[in-house]
Amino acid sequence: MSEPDFFDEGALVAVLTTQPLDRLLDYKAPEGGCFRGAFVEVPLGPRKVIGVVWGRGRGGFDLSKARSVSRVLDVAAMRDELRFFLEKAADYTLTPLHAMLRLATRAPGLSDPPSMRKVYRLGEGEPDRQTDARRRVIEVLTDYGGLAFTLKEVSEMAGVTTTVVKGLVKQGVVREEDTPRDLPFMRLDPEWGGKELTEDQAAGAEALRAGVRSGAYGTTLLRGVTGSGKTEVYLEAVAECLRQGRQALVLLPEIALTAEFLTRVEARFGAKPAEWHSGVTMTERRRIWKMVGQGGAQLVIGARSALFLPYQNLGLIVVDEEHDTSYKQEDGVLYNARDMAVLRASVCSARVVLASATPSLESWSNAQAGKYEKLELTSRYGESVLPEMRAIDMRAEDLPSSRWISPSLQRAVNARIEKGEQSLLFINRRGYAPVTICRACGHQIGCDHCDARMVEHRFLKRLVCHQCGETKPMPEACPSCHEEGKLAPVGPGVERLAEEAATLWPEARLAVLSSDLFGSARALKEGINQIAEGGADIIIGTQLVAKGHNFPLLTLVGVIDADLGLQGSDLRAAERTFQLMRQVAGRAGRSERKGLALLQTFQPEHPVIRSILAGDEVGFWTAEADERRHAGVPPFGRMAGIILSSEDVQQVFDLGNALARQDGPLQAIGAQVFGPAPAPIARVRGRHRVRLLVKAEKGAPLQAALAKWVGQFKLKGDLRLAVDIDPQSFY
Ligand code: ADP
Ligand code: ZN
Repeated sequence: MSEPDFFDEGALVAVLTTQPLDRLLDYKAPEGGCFRGAFVEVPLGPRKVIGVVWGRGRGGFDLSKARSVSRVLDVAAMRDELRFFLEKAADYTLTPLHAMLRLATRAPGLSDPPSMRKVYRLGEGEPDRQTDARRRVIEVLTDYGGLAFTLKEVSEMAGVTTTVVKGLVKQGVVREEDTPRDLPFMRLDPEWGGKELTEDQAAGAEALRAGVRSGAYGTTLLRGVTGSGKTEVYLEAVAECLRQGRQALVLLPEIALTAEFLTRVEARFGAKPAEWHSGVTMTERRRIWKMVGQGGAQLVIGARSALFLPYQNLGLIVVDEEHDTSYKQEDGVLYNARDMAVLRASVCSARVVLASATPSLESWSNAQAGKYEKLELTSRYGESVLPEMRAIDMRAEDLPSSRWISPSLQRAVNARIEKGEQSLLFINRRGYAPVTICRACGHQIGCDHCDARMVEHRFLKRLVCHQCGETKPMPEACPSCHEEGKLAPVGPGVERLAEEAATLWPEARLAVLSSDLFGSARALKEGINQIAEGGADIIIGTQLVAKGHNFPLLTLVGVIDADLGLQGSDLRAAERTFQLMRQVAGRAGRSERKGLALLQTFQPEHPVIRSILAGDEVGFWTAEADERRHAGVPPFGRMAGIILSSEDVQQVFDLGNALARQDGPLQAIGAQVFGPAPAPIARVRGRHRVRLLVKAEKGAPLQAALAKWVGQFKLKGDLRLAVDIDPQSFY
């Protein structure tokens, strides 16, 4: 029986709530009836909770006992497309549906009645006295032909304080009005500020536009070196999407990117898009959530959770830096935003653009297999060329211990300082030193709650656990042997490297770029702008600098420890190192000046280092793909990680062993179980962690088998079990 679109008053409806229940609940449709997908408030025990009308009620109980939906909320109903997407995503990630709904309702006050707020538009009056600031306010409001804005918007657009605007209100020059709190976003103009594209770019843009015009699902991998104009090209796809009257979403991996990025988008479309990430205020969240649903927001620039917004008519999803590991959420609901973007687009007939200079092996092999279309931008825009890359063989460098900047690198930096150019020293480690050791007894200071060493942060004057975030002051005496003054830092972090640079170049202006050294995204943006304008001779940075910022004066990149990522048992270690090194190197010589990247390494003959130096991407991927195909691991086979945790170590191992023994459902699909083994970090926040790995062939129905398999066990006490489909890292 097909599901009706509308339920008359009193009809039984099934409601999905965000409460942790494993089923839908039946209610009677409220007075006036309700549509399928309606957001509703329903009674649950003594409480009222939010839910969505998912379909026809199941019934099968005394109908006179059924309670009624309390009310229908004043927001757009959830579209079928989003319901299907949530269901499919729940199935794929083995996540309960209520948890998916929670992802899709991450905005406060959805059940609040609409309320009012103040907006400002041009009035009739004349100012008593004309000032520069006042004139700008009047100009801005005139330019926008009588539109109304919030106080903040007006003062920002005119570049004046809010007092100036308020003053004009008193004189009747500007009118203050009450309007509904959640206002639509300003219309974007697809014809506003397009750049003249190079031949290469224009061809790419046309291919993407044609895809958008087709109105059908499809994914394109847009590959091009950093600076080749990928952003310019996919913004043309966004423009086409807007012309079609559909909405677009651009996903970015880091908040740090959005600041610089938004300015660019504004320049292209003449107005600010909606911005969705954890740093956005609660009121703004609600505004975006509602406007996306009503069509009052045409373009969202967001973090991965923006995938779960209730778009009215989503036509395009761009995943920028698609290889970035932060797209895989590693706690809560385990999903990879890149894969979910493809899933969402396929249910709503939208296009996907995956953009990267260094695509993930998954996307690369999907493109090779013809599942994705492939577009390439081959040269950098303008005069800039890819930097030359060379290794510094650390075995041949004369370097005292506790020093990390080799004489060769030092000379290269000197030469840049003389020419007034910038150098970047890159180390992918926050803090001062990764290890603190007692020189008397050899004890290393660890976290009390995790099997992890604590990292000294001098800037904060504390030791920090990078696993759980626990901090404590640096002790005077060794916690083990109680000797005083024997604790010493071992190994470099970004802060320690800055110290070394300060002694090597006492005259130079140093800037340290590490995510934990800036209080806010805004402070970070300001810091980056200052550096870009030449406010530093030497930049010392972590992974943060690898992402998308433009430093026109930067011509040298020194990678302090190119070997860092090559250690460890991670399936993707090689891929990640390759990507990171290429990206960091890509920071150098982005404008007219040619760049040089120097990689300090103890193993210059390592295949990964060699392919980085040779710039041989295709060679690297082909070799890496071959290896994984042989091993039957993703993307050529399927994998799932199972993490069990509990405060009781015996309990976790008992369950792990029981799982390994009763693997019938997995055997039935030809899958294998490995483990249980202690997880690489065997204890986090006082909980012991055990890991199992499941490997299956590519076409195997893995999720169903996993559900059956873990469903055989009831979790007792504080035992927790998390399934991670396609694990990114074996943490
Ligand atoms: P990518 O996204 O591949 O790193 P971008 O799109 O950010 O490359 O382009 C790099 C720089 O070159 C940006 O400052 C961009 O504005 C500029 N640029 C690229 N293509 C053009 C073009 N056709 N006209 C003008 N500027 C361009
Ligand atoms: Zn810890």
